[in-house]
Amino acid sequence: MQFSDFLKSAANRRRYWARNYVGWEEFSSRQPNEGHFALATLEKLGKVHWLVTQNVDALHSRAGSQRVSELHGSAHRVICLGCNQLSSRHDLQVRIKELNPTWEATASGHAPDGDTFLTDEEVQDFNVPPCANCGGILKPQVVFFGDSVPKELVNFIHERLLESDSLLIVGSSVEVYSSYRYAHAAWQQNKHIAILNIGVTRADKLASIKLSAIAGDVLPRLVSLSVGSKKSVPKET
Ligand SMILES: [Zn+2]
Repeated sequence: MQFSDFLKSAANRRRYWARNYVGWEEFSSRQPNEGHFALATLEKLGKVHWLVTQNVDALHSRAGSQRVSELHGSAHRVICLGCNQLSSRHDLQVRIKELNPTWEATASGHAPDGDTFLTDEEVQDFNVPPCANCGGILKPQVVFFGDSVPKELVNFIHERLLESDSLLIVGSSVEVYSSYRYAHAAWQQNKHIAILNIGVTRADKLASIKLSAIAGDVLPRLVSLSVGSKKSVPKET
């Protein structure tokens, strides 16, 4: 969804929220995988200083990671474009249900962002709730195309990068500048960059190590190695 299209008309927003409403149950019930859990464990072991994710599914937090920045926001939060109040996407689901007691549609497919295909006829009777505080327009707190990452967040992550001694890129092509900027900054700071991703990434030429493998296979082994190295620290004699 283009941010400008979302702003342009109530009809566009009705279509967006109707799809989001239908896809929400499936999207919000997804569970973290081995890769998510491994990164949370690496944080506890002191190996991960800060985790920056482009995903909006909140699965890193659910897996136990605490030092997390969500670069593109979270689909679990809703923001009012009028008063900036944040609210829970789960609560909005309840409000939508109340506003649309007889509205039903059959989801015929799911996209990764919880989006779902619906026909115009299915969408036209759907009611979108306004902000409960000011009556303004509600939007998921995710970065749409044409939208930008808040400056404070960009700078906050740059600071965490300065505190880190290396950068590990997992499961991302780093194609968009919002994430590539950190790979480039790490490279400028002479930090080692390791990439774990199947397929080409924009940061390949900056990396010291590139591993074309599945995160859920490799990261748990990194946990085992980290635990092992902790145990094998030689005692002072
Ligand atoms: Zn509001």
